[in-house]
Amino acid sequence: MLVARTTAPKRIEFQQRPVPSVGADEALIRVEHVTLCGTDLHIWEGEYVNPFPLVQGHEFVGRVVKTGEEFAGARVGDRVVPSPMRFCRRCSACRAGRHNVCEHISVLGCYEDGALADYVVVPSGSVWRVPDGLPADLAPLSEPVSIAMQAVRRGRPEAGELALVLGCGPIGLIATRHLSDLGVDVVAADTVTKRAETAGRFGAVGALVIDPAGAFPSRESVTAAGQCTPDRPVTLVIEATGSPDALAGALEIAAHASRVVLVGISDRTAQIPMRTIPLKELDVLGSRNSRDLIGEGLGFVNRHRALLRSLITHRFAVTDLEVALRTMRDDAANVGKILIDLPAVNE
Ligand SMILES: [Zn+2]
Ligand SMILES: [Zn+2]
Repeated sequence: MLVARTTAPKRIEFQQRPVPSVGADEALIRVEHVTLCGTDLHIWEGEYVNPFPLVQGHEFVGRVVKTGEEFAGARVGDRVVPSPMRFCRRCSACRAGRHNVCEHISVLGCYEDGALADYVVVPSGSVWRVPDGLPADLAPLSEPVSIAMQAVRRGRPEAGELALVLGCGPIGLIATRHLSDLGVDVVAADTVTKRAETAGRFGAVGALVIDPAGAFPSRESVTAAGQCTPDRPVTLVIEATGSPDALAGALEIAAHASRVVLVGISDRTAQIPMRTIPLKELDVLGSRNSRDLIGEGLGFVNRHRALLRSLITHRFAVTDLEVALRTMRDDAANVGKILIDLPAVNE
């Protein structure tokens, strides 16, 4: 089988390998499509914690072509989205049922070889069947959808409240749609006008463009953008940028007794006043991966097919992976999601 290996920063090499063997509680998946995200770009650029060489690809769909006798969750011929997470089942987080933040977590395509390959082996209980009729090339988006759903779930949204979503990349936009579906009014914000403008299509009642060189939007400006009166301030913030300014701004804008969820990850250091969180009694919550939400993510993708299709701005064959990653880095290309097609094979 063919695999695309990232052997060093910005270097992709294709390699022939034997098709992996399948253990009793495993299945062999013929990969059909992979979508790329910001993490893939960081890995390719050498700014991630991964080892090299690495086969990237953690958002993917494929067909089950072989199963071990103890494998559960799908049958040969089923089209499935596997979870890329591998967890230990022993640490305190796993024991608490929160394996999405396992202390010893591994993620296919990020820490160990992933899906930019003809075949991948997955363990029992880690796959979700793609709903009948859902186009295969939309199915990998259920993984980033699950990430956005986890962030929304962590924020305990309530119908009728006003939320601020910082960042109009795929995660911020999907969170916006999900919150809107739950009856929450969303104001979405981004530093790029074009990106902020897309939030309306994802259900935002208002959008704000943040000038990175200027002051962060005031509480009043967010409330006004949400067409809300001052007695309905922002009570939930989803921070999906990883920018220290955005975190500081989020804490400032959040009303007393509200929730701020951080799903954007970066290595930068934020400076925040010590008084804000206790004085307002804010719940500041982290969100990572998802707690078994890929199945619900597939349902979401199925309900919002056209919207999710609009997120895919570029499509490449796996042999053009390097071009795809270069395109992602190019701001002028205005990339949403990039879809990578693996060659079709008749089994
Ligand atoms: Zn991803
Ligand atoms: Zn664990």
